[in-house]
Amino acid sequence: MIAQPKASHFVDGQYLEDASGAAFDVLFPGTGEPIARLHAATPAVIDAALASATRAQAEWARRRPVERGRVLARAAQIIRDRAEALAQLETLDTGKPVQETRVADWPSGADALEFFAGLAPTITGETIPLGGDMVYTLREPLGVCVGIGAWNYPSQIACWKSAPALAMGNAMVFKPSELTPLGALQLAEILVEAGLPAGLFNVVQGAGAVGAALVTDPRVAKVSLTGSVATGQKVYAAAAAGIRAVTMELGGKSPLVIFADADMDSAVGAAMLANFYSAGQVCSNGTRVFVERAALPAFLDRLKARSEAIVMGDPRDDTTQMGPLISDAQAAKVAQYIATGHAEGARLVTGGTVQGRFVPPTVFADVTDDMTIAREEIFGPVMAVLPFDTEPEVIARANATPYGLSAGVFTRDISRAHQVIAALEAGTCWINTYNLTPVEAPFGGSKLSGVGRENGRAAIEHYSQIKSVYIGMGPVEAPF
Ligand code: NDP
Repeated sequence: MIAQPKASHFVDGQYLEDASGAAFDVLFPGTGEPIARLHAATPAVIDAALASATRAQAEWARRRPVERGRVLARAAQIIRDRAEALAQLETLDTGKPVQETRVADWPSGADALEFFAGLAPTITGETIPLGGDMVYTLREPLGVCVGIGAWNYPSQIACWKSAPALAMGNAMVFKPSELTPLGALQLAEILVEAGLPAGLFNVVQGAGAVGAALVTDPRVAKVSLTGSVATGQKVYAAAAAGIRAVTMELGGKSPLVIFADADMDSAVGAAMLANFYSAGQVCSNGTRVFVERAALPAFLDRLKARSEAIVMGDPRDDTTQMGPLISDAQAAKVAQYIATGHAEGARLVTGGTVQGRFVPPTVFADVTDDMTIAREEIFGPVMAVLPFDTEPEVIARANATPYGLSAGVFTRDISRAHQVIAALEAGTCWINTYNLTPVEAPFGGSKLSGVGRENGRAAIEHYSQIKSVYIGMGPVEAPF
């Protein structure tokens, strides 16, 4: 099994190799086999990527938005034409089941390209009448943007960042996670095939040091990171030195609140989606599942039965519903959290036995707010179920976290649903569903979970800046 790309990097419209960069193997998480060997970007590669982006951006920004959109729309179509091959590659890169990569990863990336293709020509400024004089505004690109991705949705992240950036006339240099470097190279190829001029989307590989070198380069106007809070704090601080714009999509410990009047089958299904999809490696997961005490026995019974029916196995098999975690290190981290859950007195309902990188759907009940598994992001398929009695109580407990990425509520009481959501401190919320992130809707977090928004019209604001132009209509009245 080999998925060796033509070269490690994609710079100025073509693949680029520099074998003097540190070599690293890409492993298929399903078996641990190496599937490719790449080299981390050297300073020369980073410089070439930024130089080509800087060169290409000015001309791209002058193009009509409808022309920029046409390129992105073509790229979306190419992705759809190659859907199966891209899904298979994503599965090799991430270890996620093909069941998921066929419907979630590249399809969501294609949606983003299509959405921002259509949006590009609709972005306008405003005219501000001043009783004779007037001001008009222009929405201009920022320049060269850096995108840095996590390993859980590598191709989706590359598309979610590059689509609004390119639509607005920016260039992008993208650094994937070193664990999942393959999808972004495919995107670079596809964009060029779709007609994107050389230099506008470059991919450079490597670990955090390569990302750090990009963030502080004076040619860079903006940095968009998807990653952990700890990395976000470093990248945000580094970007601040150059007063660069940032988008930070970081981690979470999101609450999912289930009232006793909810449709219990849907609530159980949502709780499973919110914890077990992508083997729990989803930033917006609802990992603190608050269940109204009266509904707890029925909820746990159904949850246990359905969780134990999940098919875990080789992610390449069509029937597999849950694959491995991304790496040995991540599995060890999750195993440690499971051990801590036991040690701190949570009751294991199902799962808990880690075998290599494979972690089964794991549910702890009788979890209290102070337990480690209720406070820290685990990033694996470990659900904490916490009972509650009243609405004010559950709102206070749900908000008692430094994170604020997502939140969900299940109830048939329409007023209660809206009141609870209004009171929850989170950027992305769901009522009677969970973890749906269509490109049409803004996505992002509050508190430690991030700044800025991806997707929707809102993303345009984070890849553009406003120029105000004052037009004087009469003679200048100078006081001297
Ligand atoms: P990390 O924060 O470890 O890494 C994210 C990216 O940043 C990687 O490409 C990494 O490189 C790079 N990086 C690391 N250090 C630096 C640095 N000092 N300067 C610049 N770049 C750096 O996250 P993971 O990849 O481990 O992903 C998991 C985390 O991402 C979880 O905490 C999860 O919550 C969060 N996440 C958030 C999402 C959101 O939208 N809010 C979505 C998905 C994940 P490398 O890893 O190659 O060394």
